[in-house]
Amino acid sequence: MARLAHPALNIVSRNQTKPGRDTQPESVSLLAQLEWSEAHLEQPAEWVAEQLLTALKSIFPSSATLPRLIETGAHRWRYAQPSTPCEYDYLYSANGLALCGDSFRDGRIEDAWLSGHHLGEALVGRSVQ
Ligand SMILES: Cc1cc2nc3c(=O)[nH]c(=O)nc-3n(C[C@H](O)[C@H](O)[C@H](O)COP(=O)(O)OP(=O)(O)OC[C@H]3O[C@@H](n4cnc5c(N)ncnc54)[C@H](O)[C@@H]3O)c2cc1C
Repeated sequence: MARLAHPALNIVSRNQTKPGRDTQPESVSLLAQLEWSEAHLEQPAEWVAEQLLTALKSIFPSSATLPRLIETGAHRWRYAQPSTPCEYDYLYSANGLALCGDSFRDGRIEDAWLSGHHLGEALVGRSVQ
């Protein structure tokens, strides 16, 4: 996975490098920047896919000679990225309601894990008090 400082492209992931997916054929996920997505929210999916692919080729010159594409697609996840991380990793109220999840941090799986882990630590700490 690579996180980028490109105006359109935020994250590039080679999916078959993820754990347990090494038998899959090559496939790439391109995650757009939040501001870019907001500016182009109503554009057709095909247009979005084309723009992000062009961005990928401009950043990684070797990708200009990518093998023939078998399939492309784009999906709009309106609420997938928090615009600003929360001040806290989790919430815990005195009446016992606890909340955790990626949106407290930055929208990736490690953020979800860390949020839950820190809440778990806090709950264990509370239970022994
Ligand atoms: C298409 C896509 C691809 C992604 N790829 C990657 C990736 O490659 N690498 C990476 O690090 N991250 C990736 N992410 C982000 C990652 O999936 C999230 O960061 C992670 O799933 C967040 O975990 P979470 O437990 O906080 O929330 P979620 O996984 O969203 O879990 C929340 C759960 O709560 C349940 N729920 C919601 N409302 C209620 C309710 N009212 N009552 C009961 N249950 C409810 C939901 O059904 C869900 O099971 C991707 C996300 C998307 C959308």
